[in-house]
Amino acid sequence: MATVTRGGFLTLAGIGTAAVLVGSELGFDLAQATEIKQKLRIAGATEAHSLCPYCAVGCSLIAYTRKEADGSVKLLQIEGDPDSPVNEGRLCPKGATSMQLATSERRVGQPLYRAPGATEWQKMSWDDMLGKIAQRIKDSRDQTFVATDKKGNLVNRTDGIAFAGGAAFSSEEGYFATKVMRGLGLTHLEQQARV
Ligand code: SF4
Repeated sequence: MATVTRGGFLTLAGIGTAAVLVGSELGFDLAQATEIKQKLRIAGATEAHSLCPYCAVGCSLIAYTRKEADGSVKLLQIEGDPDSPVNEGRLCPKGATSMQLATSERRVGQPLYRAPGATEWQKMSWDDMLGKIAQRIKDSRDQTFVATDKKGNLVNRTDGIAFAGGAAFSSEEGYFATKVMRGLGLTHLEQQARV
């Protein structure tokens, strides 16, 4: 435990008195300021630890949520996790706006499809979109699949499809995606992460 000397005590007392005087001079009440601090909108909120999905740095986040009277969960705030050795509580401007990923009114809430040559996007259900993607993958693979190369070597590959992952992938997702794509015969696999 730190020892406070007589001189140190007098200095602290002086600083405290000066703070009160400055507060009253500037027209605010320190007691009231303390009370306002206790009414933070995240007071009593549930903390959930997560990762910024934007880039390969992998900064840690804390998401504050609260259960509303109607049973729904409201996201109150997202900020950097001070306990993370990666970002120590900091976020870059992009990560600092990550709350908008969940709350922005401009967020796209369902798949959109624009037909070849069309200028307008049309809304599509997940079932229809996933079916369309699966059909496109099959068609491209069927048209470009190469069983043997010019020298007669067995290669079983398709150069007609490329796959790009992102830093938001977990290790398991990246492993799974790579297995699926290699299983289809893809040779062009890329990943945005550079760490
Ligand atoms: S906060 Fe910025 S630097 Fe950190 S992971 Fe997100 S995008 Fe990358």
